[in-house]
Amino acid sequence: MSDTIHKLVIIGSGPAGLTAALYAARAELAPLVIAGISPGGQLMLTTEVENFPGFPEGIQGPDLMQNMLKQVERFGAVIVNENAASVDFSSQPFKVKTETQEFLTKTVIIATGADANWLGLPNEQRLRGKGVSACATCDGFFFKGKEVVVIGGGDSAMEEANFLTKFASHVTIVHRREEFKASKIMLARAEANPKIKFIVNATVIDVLGEATVSGVKIKHNDTGAEEIVEAQGYFAAIGHTPATKLFATAGVEVNSKGYIVPKVFTETNIPGVFVAGDVHDHRYRQAVTAAGEGCKAALDAEKFLAEHEQ
Ligand SMILES: Cc1cc2nc3c(=O)[nH]c(=O)nc-3n(C[C@H](O)[C@H](O)[C@H](O)COP(=O)(O)OP(=O)(O)OC[C@H]3O[C@@H](n4cnc5c(N)ncnc54)[C@H](O)[C@@H]3O)c2cc1C
Repeated sequence: MSDTIHKLVIIGSGPAGLTAALYAARAELAPLVIAGISPGGQLMLTTEVENFPGFPEGIQGPDLMQNMLKQVERFGAVIVNENAASVDFSSQPFKVKTETQEFLTKTVIIATGADANWLGLPNEQRLRGKGVSACATCDGFFFKGKEVVVIGGGDSAMEEANFLTKFASHVTIVHRREEFKASKIMLARAEANPKIKFIVNATVIDVLGEATVSGVKIKHNDTGAEEIVEAQGYFAAIGHTPATKLFATAGVEVNSKGYIVPKVFTETNIPGVFVAGDVHDHRYRQAVTAAGEGCKAALDAEKFLAEHEQ
């Protein structure tokens, strides 16, 4: 372990982490970014991003992240391509360990994001970005006049389905049970939407299509009968899992779904530990909101350091 005490360590290298690094580097905090073994975050898994401001023709997700990384490196942020394996926030300086190194730091920004939950079907993965999505706000626009299937029975499934009816000709919600977890009001709104149809008590067993999605194969749980629902879009709306286990273990407050709960602006319950992006934001989940929060967390960390300068 080196005995250098960093001013700021940022964990995660999606839009939140890299924007935090950009602001912190330009504020001369010399941030160290623990970028993870899959650097760049969720946008590395997509193709066209059409709603990040500044790109009138859109931009490929991996290109956008590569640009962010270059911009951050230009201002001297140091990138470590390893995962944070454990953290110790019990006293100053904080400790952040990767598999091979340990870093000491006065402040930390947690920007480890969240992953969409999937059913785990092989074709669901193969057709990701080719009709398979987990984000209606991001991808709904690509399904103008098309038929789509939404998987799930909670509020987010109802919300995604309602949103998708702005573009899609038809939306079929497939839910594995007869009862819904969704709140009454969200369910009623979906039921009242003439473009939405429900198939309940049915399990999705395959996503069909060669180059792009052409249908979804389901099995009715009561009869065992199989059915193909024709669709060009498949939206998984069965929740997200935030990457917070190691922080919860270290005393960072998380809610019942594992999302970090900020206390004052971006600061967590541990003074000097800040949070940005999808790792706490289960509502907006957009690249631009994550980037905005990265900016805020860096400014908050800078203020904290100024106030605690010895
Ligand atoms: C397929 C897809 C398409 C999308 N399309 C759009 C779109 O068109 N427009 C839009 O605005 N949004 C889109 N989104 C949503 C957007 O990608 C997210 O809202 C955004 O990436 C969140 O940024 P973040 O920095 O908070 O987290 P993430 O992007 O999730 O990045 C978190 C990073 O932290 C890393 N990490 C996790 N744990 C550790 C650890 N222990 N140590 C080190 N690193 C760690 C992860 O590997 C990852 O690299 C899309 C998402 C997906 C999945």
